[in-house]
Amino acid sequence: MDFELTEEQEEFRQAVREFARDEIAPRAKELDEQERFPLEIVRRMGELGLFGLPFPERYGGQGGDFVTFCLCLEEIASVDSSVAITLEAAVGLGANPIFRFGTEEQKRRWLEPMARGEILGAFALTEAGGGSDVRSMRTTARLEGGKWVVDGSKAFITNSGTPITAVCAVAAITGEGEISAILVPTDTPGFAVGPPYRKIGWRASDTREVTFSGCRVPEANLLGERGRGYAQFLETLDDGRIAIAALATGLARGCLEESVRYAREREAFGRPIGAYQALQFKMADIRVGVENARLAYLRAAWLKDRGRRYKTEAAIAKLYASEVAVAAARDAVQIHGGSGYIEESSVARFYRDAKVLEIGEGTSEIQRILIARDLGLPGTEL
Ligand SMILES: Cc1cc2nc3c(=O)[nH]c(=O)nc-3n(C[C@H](O)[C@H](O)[C@H](O)COP(=O)(O)OP(=O)(O)OC[C@H]3O[C@@H](n4cnc5c(N)ncnc54)[C@H](O)[C@@H]3O)c2cc1C
Repeated sequence: MDFELTEEQEEFRQAVREFARDEIAPRAKELDEQERFPLEIVRRMGELGLFGLPFPERYGGQGGDFVTFCLCLEEIASVDSSVAITLEAAVGLGANPIFRFGTEEQKRRWLEPMARGEILGAFALTEAGGGSDVRSMRTTARLEGGKWVVDGSKAFITNSGTPITAVCAVAAITGEGEISAILVPTDTPGFAVGPPYRKIGWRASDTREVTFSGCRVPEANLLGERGRGYAQFLETLDDGRIAIAALATGLARGCLEESVRYAREREAFGRPIGAYQALQFKMADIRVGVENARLAYLRAAWLKDRGRRYKTEAAIAKLYASEVAVAAARDAVQIHGGSGYIEESSVARFYRDAKVLEIGEGTSEIQRILIARDLGLPGTEL
């Protein structure tokens, strides 16, 4: 067993740590307050090669592995979850399905500019009528004169309406009990996005409703095999869950760093509040959570990088890390007292950003069902 990162992994982590500290952290508060998509930061992340990190060089990527990508997400999320989820969704949900299931032509057309951070792709699975219960979807795609005609709408779609969003992978019913994935370019007539949702957290991340009204796209825009859309989306989510676990680990670490700093400075009853064991124990517990959450996501990413089975490990990492993040944010606000409840403090933002980690890319309940299923328990079908 080897717990050392490779030189390349360590270098990327260090470079992104500096980038997050110098270029993202100073803007995080303003972007959150203005609920503004961080286009300039996205462009910088593109220059740094972050959007192409886990993809081969022949598709414009960096040829890195998933472990490295997750380490970078942790760094970014330790200062700003909105930027981290923008990167996570672009790579894990936008580009990844095209890399995994796309034809060579689709990879040339979409994956290459995505890997360079020039365009973003969105992943449209959830509908207003059901997120966990994916099979209840209503969106349809039918073949007509060599074109797919897509009709329906999707809810809560990340990166769907940014100025550089170019394509949306849509899960649609293509026949009796048959779900397929279709690539719909955003300039297709009939494609429309709603205004950004007003969210309690991830406020600088772009999340919208998307509608498809008779969108006609070439038959060749089928992504992967016809009828395998459901399985493909689930496999994509397995990867996404590892990345969300890394993001959650970063948020919890940010809470810890802010808390330790504050507890050393702030005084009460003539002593720094960090001298009180009641608060020391909170910080010690956050530290335990951060370390274990990191081990959990690294193990899942490591298994994935080796082509081994990682579905349950991804669910474990996502479930554990997201619950660690929510608890860490709650305790960090407590450690900050009244100032933790005021928007001036980063931990107030972390508190608002944390909750969605237990919801997006499969709720905590769904992760527990997947883990119970792996134990061979009955009644765990989804
Ligand atoms: C900010 C944000 C960004 C998002 N980005 C995307 C995106 O890019 N693409 C996309 O497709 N989706 C996206 N989503 C949607 C997200 O994946 C769903 O919200 C999530 O999967 C839950 O689905 P739901 O909201 O329909 O809740 P529901 O499925 O209605 O769940 C409601 C509650 O019931 C519980 N529940 C449901 N079924 C069961 C069961 N069998 N057993 C026990 N409990 C159950 C759930 O755990 C939850 O607590 C995003 C959501 C948010 C908030």
